Amino acid sequence: MKNYPTLAFIGAGNMARAIIGGLIKQGYPANKIWASEPDLSRIQDLQTQGLNVTDSNIDVVSNADVVVLAVKPQILKAVLLPLSEAAQQSKPLFISVAAGITSSSINRWLGGNQSVVRCMPNTPALVGLGASGLFANSDVSDEQRNQAEAVMSATGLTLWVEDEQQLHAITAVSGSGPAYYFLFMEAMISAGVQQGLTLDAATQLTLQTAKGAAEMALQSDVDPAELRRRVTSPNGTTEQAILAFQRHDLEGIVADAMGACATRSIAMA
Ligand code: NAD
Repeated sequence: MKNYPTLAFIGAGNMARAIIGGLIKQGYPANKIWASEPDLSRIQDLQTQGLNVTDSNIDVVSNADVVVLAVKPQILKAVLLPLSEAAQQSKPLFISVAAGITSSSINRWLGGNQSVVRCMPNTPALVGLGASGLFANSDVSDEQRNQAEAVMSATGLTLWVEDEQQLHAITAVSGSGPAYYFLFMEAMISAGVQQGLTLDAATQLTLQTAKGAAEMALQSDVDPAELRRRVTSPNGTTEQAILAFQRHDLEGIVADAMGACATRSIAMA
């Protein structure tokens, strides 16, 4: 980023801290970042790192170029309604990471005609390997799009969608996706233990295999299906495992699970 916009976080919990950590690592000046929390004692550590801290959400909306909304979705309306006057005057870019709350609700609670980017991040943001889906409403300028992308790319991959409805599918793929992989890891660890490995050995081997498979798929110029075929020799050991997954219709199970996730996301919106 050439010139650093003044950036403010309303709510400085897990997700805000993941983004702040990524930004600081990339050299974003701490003194250009504000964090707003009702209880200042919770963000003393951020102040020690050189960030500006406050308990006034109105102050940050009045003074920041970009405001990241990082409170829980259920309190977002109550947090935004008192900010509409300040938002109407200062017109910052709002980036919301709140799950399920539409850009039109956010715009309405802020009094209308506001630039709102809605973002669906995921928890690997905490280790800089997040994947975020982004949607911009019609008031967002090209410069603000770049600002939103610069902020969210501090936590990993970013991907824009032009249809806000696609954020439901993104929730089903990457928003909730880490939990699917954790579940698969749990299952592999416990099957490894059943086959006689220690818990520690089964855990280490499972996690390294997950990391290795993801890294290989990322670095490869062929798709995961081809990578799988290449390691599945006819009549070999891997083939027996794959056939067992297919007998239980793994693809159908995954499609059902992701469908249920997207349905829940639509119901919550
Ligand atoms: P969190 O509880 O860790 O953080 C929320 C923070 O908001 C808390 O520190 C709380 O003190 C603060 N807060 C409460 N009332 C406030 C107010 N009036 N003004 C300012 N701050 C206030 O929650 P989180 O996990 O960081 O989630 C934040 C948002 O990120 C949620 O909307 C969630 O949907 C979204 N999100 C989180 C994840 C995740 O992995 N954690 C993933 C996707 C989306």
